[in-house]
Amino acid sequence: MAEVSVTKDAAPAADELVALRNVNKHFGALHVLQDIDLTIDRGEVVVVIGPSGSGKSTLCRAINRLETVESGTITIDGKPLPQEGKELARLRADVGMVFQSFNLFAHKTVLENVMLGQVKVRKAEKSAAEDKARKLLDRVGVGTQADKYPAQLSGGQQQRVAIARALAMDPKIMLFDEPTSALDPEMINEVLEVMQQLARDGMTMVVVTHEMGFARSAANRVVFMADGRIVEEATPDQFFSHPRSDRAKDFLSKIL
Ligand code: ADP
Ligand code: MG
Repeated sequence: MAEVSVTKDAAPAADELVALRNVNKHFGALHVLQDIDLTIDRGEVVVVIGPSGSGKSTLCRAINRLETVESGTITIDGKPLPQEGKELARLRADVGMVFQSFNLFAHKTVLENVMLGQVKVRKAEKSAAEDKARKLLDRVGVGTQADKYPAQLSGGQQQRVAIARALAMDPKIMLFDEPTSALDPEMINEVLEVMQQLARDGMTMVVVTHEMGFARSAANRVVFMADGRIVEEATPDQFFSHPRSDRAKDFLSKIL
């Protein structure tokens, strides 16, 4: 830790939850994260967009340390990411992650999926974990599915269970990596609506998505990545109406 400083600038802003400073990572010769500087404030919804292969997933995975980085620093709540052990398990609980592929435990019921981490990582009592799981399942609209197995649910329902499971850990931030990309079109909105509600409730969120309607309505900030770099950061209005870089203009012309 740096020594206590009398200058205001040296201290992290009080509302800063996640900070990446000059982060770099390679996969072999590929420089997948290049000098990434990004801060995410409490309650902020940051939508990350960009072409396939630009490093969006790697960025998310670095924030909950599913990937290590080679240089730079990543802090959550002012603390550097832990390297291993119990501290790392706690970090993973603090940083909820929802993937494209729902990643539920296939041999556990929906209810058990949402209870497991509470009991194992947060050391909750079983009855308290069950109460909370049922409340969360209700909140994401799948309360009646509690005793089923994941394979008996639709993709949209499974993804909402995955969101409930992450929320059960009381995360400080939720990372969504293309949460609707694997869904049939008619199920996309039911998942986006749950995410919209979370955003309205004040959850800090990083969302990688190609759903530009969601970006426009839910994001406080859009981060546009290309070739491992953050090329633009702007409000959704600014970004969609007046993209500054040629890369962003080119990207938007292809998807809008
Ligand atoms: P995005 O999510 O924006 O599509 P990714 O972060 O998944 O991009 O990947 C960025 C680049 O890194 C891609 O070229 C991808 O092929 C490569 N990559 C991702 N994971 C690995 C890995 N584990 N080993 C080698 N290359 C990888
Ligand atoms: Mg990806």
